[in-house]
Amino acid sequence: MAWALTPLTEEQREIQRTAREFALAEIAPHSADWDRDAYFEPSLVGKLGALGFLGMMIPEQYDGLGLDTLTYLVALEEIAILDASVAVMLSVHNSLPTQMILRWGSEKQKECFLKPMARGERLGAFALSEPEAGSDAASLRTQAVRDGDHWVLNGTKAWVSSGTKSDIIIAMARTDTPDDRRGARGISAFVITPDLPGFHVGKKEDKMGLRASPTVQLHFSDMRVPADRLLGQIGSGFIYAMQSLDNGRLGIAAQAIGIAEAALRHSAAYAAERKQFGKPIKEFQAIQFKLADIAMRVSASRALLHMSATAKDRGEHMTQFSAMAKLQASETAMWATTQAIQIFGGYGYVKEYPVERLFRDAKVTEIYEGTSEIQRIVIARELYSR
Ligand SMILES: Cc1cc2nc3c(=O)[nH]c(=O)nc-3n(C[C@H](O)[C@H](O)[C@H](O)COP(=O)(O)OP(=O)(O)OC[C@H]3O[C@@H](n4cnc5c(N)ncnc54)[C@H](O)[C@@H]3O)c2cc1C
Repeated sequence: MAWALTPLTEEQREIQRTAREFALAEIAPHSADWDRDAYFEPSLVGKLGALGFLGMMIPEQYDGLGLDTLTYLVALEEIAILDASVAVMLSVHNSLPTQMILRWGSEKQKECFLKPMARGERLGAFALSEPEAGSDAASLRTQAVRDGDHWVLNGTKAWVSSGTKSDIIIAMARTDTPDDRRGARGISAFVITPDLPGFHVGKKEDKMGLRASPTVQLHFSDMRVPADRLLGQIGSGFIYAMQSLDNGRLGIAAQAIGIAEAALRHSAAYAAERKQFGKPIKEFQAIQFKLADIAMRVSASRALLHMSATAKDRGEHMTQFSAMAKLQASETAMWATTQAIQIFGGYGYVKEYPVERLFRDAKVTEIYEGTSEIQRIVIARELYSR
């Protein structure tokens, strides 16, 4: 069982158990096939919704479970241990679009969009990145122009997780004008639905890992968006996106820890079973030390994540903690899965054994929601900001 920094409450243990049992029954038997076929199983949304897992941190008044961040992350790790693709769908939905509508949406937006998302009837996505705007997201080019009681959006969003299946997408677009560019302050956030005229799903990426999570481009061609779909204040969309990524990075850290925990479990089991030179390879100190180092790094990552989650729920400034938690967990996942393949030897290099997928899934945790380089920039900047 995954260890926790502080003893979990009975409610937290119950939710952890529910997540584990669901993942074992509904996800684990299919994960390898979904990965091979790059297949997203749509029924998962309704099933996870029925458990309340698509509204974990949404207050009960908006049909969510109203849980704290730690409980959500403990459940997310359990899912990620068995399938990182399902975990990212949960992480994006719970951390980004739902939290953005909860924090900055109007009561009408909460009624129309947040409640069905919390009930798991509608899946959410987050569209900040563009083909030419990744780490430098404030350089995005998608343009919104006001036309009567609508905004007209033109542009392409890139790398949108769950993008083929999402019903509600928070998209960032420029609302400044070519004659009056305002940098990050010229960006606003909009609630987009696929039924809007001019909305098109574009290229689906053929990815190395997380293959059961559809990642797509979205094209907006003269897409007419009702004015009441503007989220919060005009010109504040980039700030909302950055503040939301403080939440998002905790989810990605939990996903990465789940991947690393799975690498540890598979490696320990294999080392006990695989014999060379007449004994199980776990008898060799070289293998023991690898297992010890993986266990230590997984525990350290989890401790930092759980500390960050409780700090968030106390209302503390989170930017540095969430960047550190994500950086440590994602580099642990990549390192641990590399070690796991070494422990498996040649069998680690083939799809017949699970660590090959874990290795492919781990890599993206060092890239999305801010690369490791960007996390280090954020952490260093925060060191000088107080
Ligand atoms: C599978 C997947 C899912 C994703 N899902 C989403 C999503 O749902 N929504 C969304 O909006 N985006 C999403 N993304 C996009 C993701 O956030 C970006 O890929 C990421 O921010 C990096 O941008 P980039 O790929 O353009 O790389 P670039 O920004 O071009 O970076 C290339 C390299 O340069 C480095 N670099 C860049 N700037 C600096 C600097 N100032 N100092 C030092 N090094 C630097 C980077 O660290 C990296 O190593 C997803 C990406 C992937 C791969």
